[in-house]
Amino acid sequence: MQEKGSISIHTENIFPVIKKFLYSDNEIFLRELVSNAVDATQKINRLSSLGRFSGELGDITIDVKLDKEKKTITISDCGIGMTADEIKKYINQVAFSGATEFVEKFKEAKDANEIIGKFGLGFYSAFMVADLVEIQSLSYQDGAQAVKWSCDGSTSYEISEGNKTQRGTDIILHINEESEEFLEQSRIQNILNKYAKFLPVPIRFGTETKTVEDGKDEKGEPVYKTEEVDNIVNNTTPLWIKTPSELKDEDYLAFYRELYPTTFEEPLFWIHLNVDYPFNLTGVLYFPKVKNDVEVQKNKIKLFSRQVFITDEVNDIVPEFLMLLHGVIDSPDIPLNVSRSFLQSDANVRKINSYITRKVAEKLQELYKADRKAFQEKWDDIGLFVKYGMLSDSKFAEKANEFCLLKNVEQEYFTFKEFYEKVKDIQVNKDGQIVYLYSHDTDQQDVSIQQAKDKGYDVLILDGPLDSHFTSYLEQNGGEKVQLKRIDADVIDKLIEKDQEIELKLSEEQKESLKNIFSTAINNENMSVEVVALNGEDMPVSVTMDEFMRRMKDMAKLGGGMSFYGEMPDNYKVTVNGNHPIAEKIVSAQGEEAEKLAKQAYDLALLSRGLLKGGDLTSFIKRSVELI
Ligand code: ADP
Repeated sequence: MQEKGSISIHTENIFPVIKKFLYSDNEIFLRELVSNAVDATQKINRLSSLGRFSGELGDITIDVKLDKEKKTITISDCGIGMTADEIKKYINQVAFSGATEFVEKFKEAKDANEIIGKFGLGFYSAFMVADLVEIQSLSYQDGAQAVKWSCDGSTSYEISEGNKTQRGTDIILHINEESEEFLEQSRIQNILNKYAKFLPVPIRFGTETKTVEDGKDEKGEPVYKTEEVDNIVNNTTPLWIKTPSELKDEDYLAFYRELYPTTFEEPLFWIHLNVDYPFNLTGVLYFPKVKNDVEVQKNKIKLFSRQVFITDEVNDIVPEFLMLLHGVIDSPDIPLNVSRSFLQSDANVRKINSYITRKVAEKLQELYKADRKAFQEKWDDIGLFVKYGMLSDSKFAEKANEFCLLKNVEQEYFTFKEFYEKVKDIQVNKDGQIVYLYSHDTDQQDVSIQQAKDKGYDVLILDGPLDSHFTSYLEQNGGEKVQLKRIDADVIDKLIEKDQEIELKLSEEQKESLKNIFSTAINNENMSVEVVALNGEDMPVSVTMDEFMRRMKDMAKLGGGMSFYGEMPDNYKVTVNGNHPIAEKIVSAQGEEAEKLAKQAYDLALLSRGLLKGGDLTSFIKRSVELI
């Protein structure tokens, strides 16, 4: 038997084009060939269990072998094999719907996967790294003849009698000059670790040397020897394909370590995904402790298709806010050669996306309901993630409104409803608005927090990186007429303004004079002075920044595009309490002395907010020493 022929592609010299085009991710040739070997092995397994193959299955381990001298990589399986006719059918007739379309698509395609997937080129990806590819195959069928196929990357091939005596297929790649990196042991090991780590059929890549115990010496001490053992690269039954009821917490934690050997922190909890309708999906998603540094934790979810690793860029399958999760998603509905454009347009992908969102919301709800205390303990670690979800996904937000927690400065936790009930009668202002007070820095704002507490008010802690957005969310979803004000946005009596009028003890003239003394002493156009009637025991001077103004500036800082506010100087309000004894003392003092006192009171106000710095702080200290 000897036959020559031409591969049915109508475009001449297509392989050089493929090679060049695919150059950037050419390592996927190994994924493609090993997956084909796995498919062939699973087919023989299935035939055997259906009773349609009665021979011995034998050792079905797939071998990947390197020969540095001959410059070959060989992938051998004990699968169903191929007859000459099958090779002609499956390998020679590359499934092109037409040469013209192919060439057209080539120009448009954004990545190699798109081309490979579209045109069923899995096997031909071998030509990205090899200039000669041989197939040696023996079909499982009774009386089958061993067959050899070879092709040098042109459009002609040769079929002749093969040398295989055992069922299965060897794919022999004669590695081309530019691809010699693939003849390195470590390179192949890395690629196998990446793509084949959880394939369902054992894959052997050479041997490794292991130190094992070999009896004891006369003193009873163990003696060791080294042994060559098969290096099996994969775990054929990864956790996500197992039944959740048979798994313990330790199993999930152990699998987490297997996935992320360099991460030491344990996950907080996990969700085992398992759906078969309307799409197929299995997987495990872990909730890590979310640090403030959201960016670095992304791209930790690995996407598989029937246990073949595809990518860890799951942007389109997993909603943006869930990108912080870790773990594995496996769906046969996602093709091996998944491409960005496929993901964006595929309806299944969108369904998967909303399914995962729902599952995550349900899991959180379940944890909240099952054990409120444990949920609270985890809140500081998952709060950021939940808020991220609420701000970016309205379906998730609907559910999360129920279990999202607010923490106050006493370290107590409340749901939206609970907090609303707690403060609605106390923190209501004269216009009927329920004012939630919050602090973004409990150390720096301690003075203001204490003043609020003295009034019997509650102060929330909102100090996370998303909280400047979350404040507006809470105003819209936290309850009727809820308004948020940062604790340093005004003096406490103005933050929650009640009906009762306090009379100013100063005359109009004195008030005007006090204002002038302060303005001159402060001498800064960004500080606008106001004299108001407050309780005599309240602070004599307070420095505050209007809530609206500050939010706009925060947004501009976050890149909200409102550069107008970003460029504005920091404008503060200096509130002088006209009823404080110091006010009277300052108006009755003369010239320089009055200014000195005013400056001192003003500096104290700045100091209480952590705003007194540099030269101003130095002169304040000097002045204080003199006064003592
Ligand atoms: P795909 O795997 O997407 O069908 P490929 O080009 O990778 O495309 O393979 C084409 C066909 O060749 C396969 O569907 C299979 O029938 C056959 N084939 C490839 N590799 C093997 C193998 N190792 N053993 C048996 N058949 C194989």
